[in-house]
Amino acid sequence: MNKKEEERRARLLKSRAERLPDIKKQFEEAQNRNFNSNFKPGGKDENLVSDKKTAKKTTAKTKEKVEAEKRKVNLSVSTKKGEMVHHQRMLSQDVNAQATQHIIGVPVNKSRYNGYNGEQITNAKLKMMRPDPDAVRIIPIGGLGEFGIGKNMTVIEYKSEMIVVDMGVLFAGEDYPGVNYMIPDIKYLEDNIAKVKAILFTHAHLDHIGACRHLLPKFSNLTPIYGTDFTIGMIKKQMSELDEEPDLNYITVDPFKHEKIKVSEHFSVEFIHTLHSIPGNTAIVVRTPNGLIYLSGDWRHENNPMGVQTDYERIDEIVAKEGIDLMLNESTNIDSPGRHPHSEYDVGENLGKVMDHYVNGRVIISCFSSQILRIELILKEAAARGRKVAFSGFSMINNLEVALRAKSIKVPKDTIMKMEDIIKLPDEKVCIICTGSQGELNAVLNRMVTGAHKYIKIKATDTIVFSSNPIPGNEPHVVSTVDGLLREGAQVIQNGKTHLTNIGPLHLSGHAYYEDHVEFVTRLHPTNYMPYHGEFYMLEHNAEMAENVLGIPRDRILISDDGDVVELLPNKTIRKAGRIYVGNKLYDDADQPVHEAVIKDRIHISREGIFVIILTLNKKTGHLMKTPDIVSRAFIYLDNSEELIGKIRHYLRQKTDKSISTDPEMKVLKEEIKEDITHILFDATGHTPIVIPVINKV
Ligand SMILES: [Zn+2]
Ligand SMILES: [Zn+2]
Repeated sequence: MNKKEEERRARLLKSRAERLPDIKKQFEEAQNRNFNSNFKPGGKDENLVSDKKTAKKTTAKTKEKVEAEKRKVNLSVSTKKGEMVHHQRMLSQDVNAQATQHIIGVPVNKSRYNGYNGEQITNAKLKMMRPDPDAVRIIPIGGLGEFGIGKNMTVIEYKSEMIVVDMGVLFAGEDYPGVNYMIPDIKYLEDNIAKVKAILFTHAHLDHIGACRHLLPKFSNLTPIYGTDFTIGMIKKQMSELDEEPDLNYITVDPFKHEKIKVSEHFSVEFIHTLHSIPGNTAIVVRTPNGLIYLSGDWRHENNPMGVQTDYERIDEIVAKEGIDLMLNESTNIDSPGRHPHSEYDVGENLGKVMDHYVNGRVIISCFSSQILRIELILKEAAARGRKVAFSGFSMINNLEVALRAKSIKVPKDTIMKMEDIIKLPDEKVCIICTGSQGELNAVLNRMVTGAHKYIKIKATDTIVFSSNPIPGNEPHVVSTVDGLLREGAQVIQNGKTHLTNIGPLHLSGHAYYEDHVEFVTRLHPTNYMPYHGEFYMLEHNAEMAENVLGIPRDRILISDDGDVVELLPNKTIRKAGRIYVGNKLYDDADQPVHEAVIKDRIHISREGIFVIILTLNKKTGHLMKTPDIVSRAFIYLDNSEELIGKIRHYLRQKTDKSISTDPEMKVLKEEIKEDITHILFDATGHTPIVIPVINKV
């Protein structure tokens, strides 16, 4: 070898050694991505390490290889191992993609409202950023840019003080088998728990209070918890369902008093009454050292609302006297054109029309259990027609109790009856309000269809009203419930299908439409604007509205993802300054935590199944003591697969026989059996179930 060549090689080796940490990192990342991958730690890059110390290891490796070769059994398969590995890798990518839909990989990326002029933000850039010690920090912990709307939670921070607004859940879709809901991971708050001076709630929908049962007990029981009467009532109800109800510091707020509540040295808060689809709904104004922040919460506009109109007077006063330095505005219906065309009164009137039209039968109305005003309207319409009303559904009755206690509902005299009594009345005197409008399998409406309901079985003379819209994702379930009702001969009237019966609308969205937003944000005239409460496209469309229609300069509009830190600076500009840790915690329907790895296994099993082999070996001789037991679940039905099972048993006998001379470690043997069996199964079926070999030595 000439000198030049030697030098070249030396250079090459040096650059390899320099690149090694990078290569290793990439390798590890790839390994983490493919949780089911066949990479082995230290496998691929082992050869790159030209260290003398590894020489011994290499000899040991060679010996292992020779012994493994001795144990090799001819699998008599027609597919290559590479095909199986490819299948496994594709599968694990699919599983990962499905199980991590709620994890935001690249925050806000290159949107022109990302706070970095549309440039991709990198970890290096984030690290370089210096937080301004005099900034007020606004940090969304949940509810922004996710898949589905929910788990709303915002933190506002200044020096050593924090306040928290809302603690919501997000209901998981069917992509997450066995998961009922998820809540925000509040590690950031737990690390700073002493700084939390107050917890505020805008309203009692579950996407704003649903995580209370898990999160409130983590805080000091002296931390004040603020909300309106109905909201606090609903939180207390939820907490009372815990095995051990914590003693917490609830403070009920009357938004009509316009009280400026000083919650800490630097923060004071004010609740503002706004319209939505639940009693006791509010926006929250936070006065900070760097200006006034308006958090819209959820809201809608109606010209002729039931109850008290949004407190526009107070809002106008604040705008005129103080000005709004930063507005956080919800984004749910930003894609709905125009204005909210109706009021709850219209819905009530139409429900009355249904009772008139189908005068001879029972009227069964299904709506969201938190629609207290809707329920009040139904009671009124029923009372006017001499119909009695009974309620069915656990949450429906719960919420009604809270509403009665908070005086959020007016009930006409002698109208409400118990279910067991109302069924004794003639059909034309009966009205039932129930849950199940989302087609939930175990909810009241479905139980009435299947005959599982204790008191009500659907009759051909019944009229069922869906006073709701299906939440995206629930449509197929609603269809199945409707089909079931129609098969029983009942009349079904759904909101949004006015052309069929000429009766509608029967439901109103609780969120403002596009033109409502234009009008309201114009009215508030905020200096800085931040869309929240929405999926990413909603946030983006909300920001576009602010820039293009309202003329707010682009550098005063920010779209954030959960975890982004937004600073409101003393000069009243906003900017992004880093990120905090955020995440999800998953729970099943028994309120027990579910680990993400479990979800991945469930998805894997649901697609490919599980295959267990139990071997009993003689401790001394290593021979198989009896025919291996094979258990197949969610994979193949064993009775129909004799040939395949025979092949597997044959393999196992050969494998154990061949292993006797080399006496491998149990771990190694299991791994080899797992790989071989997976290959045999893949060859026969095109699937790679989770294979679990169990070896007993007796
Ligand atoms: Zn709401
Ligand atoms: Zn909401």
